[in-house]
Amino acid sequence: RQAAYAALREVEPRTLDGERITVMINAGLRDDVPMLNLTGADGIGLYRTEFQFLVSATLPSRERQTRLYRDVLEAAGNRPVVFRTVDIGGDKALPYLRHDDGNDEENPAMGWRALRVALEREGLLKAQARALLEASAGRTLNVMFPMVSEPWEFDAARAVFERQLEFLRKQKRMLPEAIRYGAMLEVPALAEVLDLIVPRLSFLSIGTNDLTQFLFAADRANPKLAERYDWLSPSILRFLRRILRDVGSHPIDVTVCGEMGGRRLEALALIGLGIRRLSITPVAVGPIKELVSRIHVGELRAAMEQWLAHPPADMRGALLEWATSRGI
Ligand code: PEP
Ligand code: MG
Repeated sequence: RQAAYAALREVEPRTLDGERITVMINAGLRDDVPMLNLTGADGIGLYRTEFQFLVSATLPSRERQTRLYRDVLEAAGNRPVVFRTVDIGGDKALPYLRHDDGNDEENPAMGWRALRVALEREGLLKAQARALLEASAGRTLNVMFPMVSEPWEFDAARAVFERQLEFLRKQKRMLPEAIRYGAMLEVPALAEVLDLIVPRLSFLSIGTNDLTQFLFAADRANPKLAERYDWLSPSILRFLRRILRDVGSHPIDVTVCGEMGGRRLEALALIGLGIRRLSITPVAVGPIKELVSRIHVGELRAAMEQWLAHPPADMRGALLEWATSRGI
């Protein structure tokens, strides 16, 4: 199988009926970037910038951040990289970044984390914005914000970037060729107001790890619950279908960047729902590219519509049977 995956490295992932599926990788370290060439992925769909913060004893300086982002972009060559602004706080607490009243939160995953921290500690986001803008001079900067729960949070974060951009422009510094701003959809509340936020976005990235945890009110880090809720449950799949419907005809990219997309049956379900862009763990790229090459989207879509209208007791079983009966 390894040889089969290697052979697919240079092959664009396309279904039997010719749909191009974009398969990207999730990364967080400079050393993850060579995985792009090893796997033949289309780009980095999620670069978790907080890793640099988590492995550092002190707040990484703006210069260090700029250097890392520049290195990552250079190593990625002409493949796109989507940088996610820091998702720290909550369970990824940093000793040098503490809430004024301590860090002991009862529910850190639902607490002071991600964009909530970044918007309150504006110096942090300002420095990161400058670093990303400077590192992207002459290229396209793709940046997305984690845990957007209401549209104003996206606007506020974007405004921090725009102010830094204005500053660089006044300084006559070289600017990015283009800036694409995106939001992560991982808090269910955002799904209710997609019509309000989508016109302001270049892309939407669905973080199914957090989204599942919040939809089921089930801590993603609690091993007692790990097996209880299935990504292939009708609630998740119908929720995703609804997101795609609400994005409607707006010409924005919609990517799934949670772990779900790297698993075979889950990827099948996502493609059946209409997802065309996945950002997954690098080891899954070969298997998912191979899977893509064996499916007929038209057939899969029809089956998925049936399953969602009348969910089988065992959706996982139904998908597995569908796949094995076609030699997938
Ligand atoms: C997610 O929540 O699905 C996601 C991709 O972000 P993270 O796993 O880093 O929280
Ligand atoms: Mg998340």
